[in-house]
Amino acid sequence: MKIIKKSNIINKIISRSKNVGFVPTMGTLHQGHISLIEKSKKECSKTVVSIFVNPKQFNKKKDFVSYPKKIMNDFKICKLHKVDYLFVPNFNEVYSWKTKKIIYPKLANIMEHKFRKNHFKGVMDVMSKLLSIINNTKVYMGEKDYQQLYIVKKLCKINQIQSKIISCKTIRSPKGYALSSRNLLLDKTSHEIMSNVFKIINEYKKTNMNKIFNVNFLKTKIKKIGIKKIDYINLINLINFKAQKKISIKTNIFIAYYLKNVRLIDNI
Ligand code: AMP
Repeated sequence: MKIIKKSNIINKIISRSKNVGFVPTMGTLHQGHISLIEKSKKECSKTVVSIFVNPKQFNKKKDFVSYPKKIMNDFKICKLHKVDYLFVPNFNEVYSWKTKKIIYPKLANIMEHKFRKNHFKGVMDVMSKLLSIINNTKVYMGEKDYQQLYIVKKLCKINQIQSKIISCKTIRSPKGYALSSRNLLLDKTSHEIMSNVFKIINEYKKTNMNKIFNVNFLKTKIKKIGIKKIDYINLINLINFKAQKKISIKTNIFIAYYLKNVRLIDNI
């Protein structure tokens, strides 16, 4: 595995290679990230992983500072999974890379875009830089961050970015909740609560298929198990990303909530 810090070096290597898979991450890798790496390894000749905690996508400085960082362990994980190139740029390497001006897609004012002002602008800025440095690849991204996936696909389409975004299934803990780097900030009791949030939503969706979505019922149940703050619970059509009234196999229930001061998202 080659560890590369410089944008021009990784750009040269990737430009010369064919059938490259790219897994952009913010590090503190877990089984969710590993599943993307494995999919890329299976489908591509070379796999690049990037680790860059993008300050522009954090709307609160405190959240950026407390974001977990485990770089030595990340190196080990990438090596173990036979990643070919690990790109670990600093801020300047990413943002001083010259790209043409990007067109930002129009975003519906829902969920993460409504509750985290400028978050997706930061995501689109970093993705347009990274996809220009590491260009013309298959980009593996998780459905755990479904709204991000949807927006990055749109960004690529309207800017004619020569990379293909591949959606990958959410990897969950045996207890049901989605794996996330932020889970490391929480203790065992919190993990039990997260597992109960998953169970409530999953059970509700299964038993209410083809019925009208009752958000208040869910909110009350989730608040009863110790969640004090919920940003949103929405029922969303996975194809057109619009809010729906009726639960169906085409819809997922999206949630953002806080446990201690940690903000967690999932869609089930
Ligand atoms: P992050 O490091 O959190 O920015 O995530 C990097 C990539 O890994 C994104 O495309 C995420 O959607 C994806 N990812 C994070 N957690 C999971 C998970 N539990 N299952 C599948 N993909 C995930």
